[in-house]
Amino acid sequence: MSAITLNGVEAPCPEAYRDRGPRSVFCGLTSVVWMHRKIQDAFFLIVGSRTCAHLIQSAAGVMIFAEPRFGTAVLEERDLAGMADAQEELDRIVTRLLERRPDIRLLFLVASCPSDVIRIDLKRAAHRLSGRLAPKTRVLAYTGSGLDTTFTQGEDSCLASLVAEQAEPADSAGRSLVVAGCLPDVVEDQFRRLFEAMGVGPVHFLPSRTSEPLPAVGPETLVLAAQPFVGETVQALERRGARRLSAPFPFGEEGTTLWLKAAADAFGVDPARFDEVTAPGRARAKKALEHHRETLEGKTIFFFPDSQLEIPMARFLARELGMRPTDIATPYFNRSLLDAELPLLGSDPCLSEAPDVDEQMARCLDLKPDLTVCGLGLANALEAQGRVTKWSIELVFTPVHGYDQAGDLAGIFARPLVRKSLLKV
Ligand code: SF4
Repeated sequence: MSAITLNGVEAPCPEAYRDRGPRSVFCGLTSVVWMHRKIQDAFFLIVGSRTCAHLIQSAAGVMIFAEPRFGTAVLEERDLAGMADAQEELDRIVTRLLERRPDIRLLFLVASCPSDVIRIDLKRAAHRLSGRLAPKTRVLAYTGSGLDTTFTQGEDSCLASLVAEQAEPADSAGRSLVVAGCLPDVVEDQFRRLFEAMGVGPVHFLPSRTSEPLPAVGPETLVLAAQPFVGETVQALERRGARRLSAPFPFGEEGTTLWLKAAADAFGVDPARFDEVTAPGRARAKKALEHHRETLEGKTIFFFPDSQLEIPMARFLARELGMRPTDIATPYFNRSLLDAELPLLGSDPCLSEAPDVDEQMARCLDLKPDLTVCGLGLANALEAQGRVTKWSIELVFTPVHGYDQAGDLAGIFARPLVRKSLLKV
């Protein structure tokens, strides 16, 4: 049992404790908002209720003028009363969609949480539809239900479905690197250039920009996770024989360097070559971080469980900007994927998995941290009390990985503190 004292409050903290109280996070459907932008010839058909349609429409409201690459098949009363055959209805909707949008090469059927959707076997539907529509269009199913997934797990579930559809593991796939986790195109290009300059490759990004299936995966495939929430995807790749490289996540100068180093070492890159290739990026990142140090250094930060990015973010802010994390709560604590992060974190902050949100709120109000990172629902309540907050969902909508985004990442946490200081009278 450790304890921290902050603002006169003594807060005991069992190490990495786990609770199963009420939570307050967006569901996995939310990930459709960034996934549909990445895979440019895919379509996400959510099978759900009007609530699901409202969530996705308001989360991605900007799409109103574009031909969107997502939609919701809403269960009507006739379906709920059991008067319609769900599989036939789904076939009808998919046929109509593909007639209108023949450019769709990959169709995801995304399950949601209403009990009537849970009863529909979407995997069977995807299999049947794929048989009818392949090779022009592949159909896969995964769940984005709020009962099973937080918003970042929706991405994991989607990527795992892409790995699962692959053929049997290939014995002689040849040495290659798979980067698992959705990255904005600009970040993917930056990493690709760095890997190429070091001589690491071939490199495949999962997901890629098109629906082309992942090349064969086998014992010579190495996996580097780009996001801490892709546990199911990494496991699916490991089941095909791939080997995960242990590394911190590529946030900040240190995280990015160690992440790239894990790949470089696995491919036998000469250390001098590695230093030469990464030196300019490291220098740019360090310079960009200096700009925010004055605002962030010594400030306390409290993480509510939301995005699963909490642990790498706390590590980055503590080690590279001198912030003091008090509580780091995460919805799911994937110890194996975080094996290289935890030793960097130190033993001070209170780590917890899915703690009771009411208890967390009481603790946060007692501790009065300088900055609280949380979901939208809690942010409003805390702001109303005069607390400074940052919405964690911004971390998945903004390019934050790699050297050239290190300054922007620090800026995400610095901005609310700067705003607060400017508002002071
Ligand atoms: S999947 Fe469930 S939690 Fe998500 S919007 Fe639909 S009903 Fe709500």
